[in-house]
Amino acid sequence: MVINGTTIAPGENKQVVFSQYELPSQSVIETPAYVFRSVNAGPCLLLSAGMHGEETNGIETLREVLKHESLQNLLCGTVIIIPIINVVSFIFNQRELPGGRDLNRCFPGTRNGSLGSRMAHDIMHNILPVIDFGVDFHTGGAKINNYPQLRCVFDEPKHLELAKLFAPPFIINSPYRDGSFRVEASKRGKIILVFEAGESLRFNNTAINEGLQGCLRLMKNLNMIAPVDLPQSRTILIGKDKWVRASEAGLFRTHKKFGAYFEKDQVLGTISDPYNKSEVNLIAPDNGFIIGINNQPVVHVGDALLHIGIEK
Ligand SMILES: [Zn+2]
Repeated sequence: MVINGTTIAPGENKQVVFSQYELPSQSVIETPAYVFRSVNAGPCLLLSAGMHGEETNGIETLREVLKHESLQNLLCGTVIIIPIINVVSFIFNQRELPGGRDLNRCFPGTRNGSLGSRMAHDIMHNILPVIDFGVDFHTGGAKINNYPQLRCVFDEPKHLELAKLFAPPFIINSPYRDGSFRVEASKRGKIILVFEAGESLRFNNTAINEGLQGCLRLMKNLNMIAPVDLPQSRTILIGKDKWVRASEAGLFRTHKKFGAYFEKDQVLGTISDPYNKSEVNLIAPDNGFIIGINNQPVVHVGDALLHIGIEK
């Protein structure tokens, strides 16, 4: 296996730089990938995080995977770990790149394009060709907290098959978005699943643990690592999802437990005015699960408040 000119032989574990670029100060930012190869042939799995620089749960999850002893003795195949794809945004605690571009809308990128376009190109050119499939780790943006969930396209049977080996609490049918890593990988026959858990700039132990356990389950189910003791998991398939939005402006509270099941017409939350003159209830439009919550208490009319998932 060769990544950006560095050869990694079977049985070798190596750190390789797959992308580098210069800041205006002339400092060079190098983006490392950690490659673990077994002597035995097998699948090549990519685990990546930090596409959005403020999504720290994924970065912490992959740090936990990196320190797990099972990686040192892979039974077969290759695991490539990129804890921080977008180092520049990570340094600044930002979602976007300098200039405001979203790296996950820059794919497939070009060699001579903007910073985001070059970073996307380096992943497509140096990493994607050597992998078979991967999981890209994200968290909710803004003040959105996502219950641990894998997103994939249900119409593509192999996606769901792979997602079930990860066995997260929820697997959600999620169409492709233009310019994303996921869609451009699929055009080249590679499956990228997106794991979403927690919110930006805040560690969430449930999110990090579910991410770590999912990675270990996936590698165990692919016979890449020796059996590890993992808690029993139940996965719910979500065929449809929608947002319950604010019908009024005011202070928002939810009464439901995160990830919990609810039934149609139940009260999911309340919006009150700050002077306690009025209060409106948010009513469940269907039976479903709370798969995402807006943690911002002050809301405007139309704000997305609760992301609900309807079981397939
Ligand atoms: Zn993200």
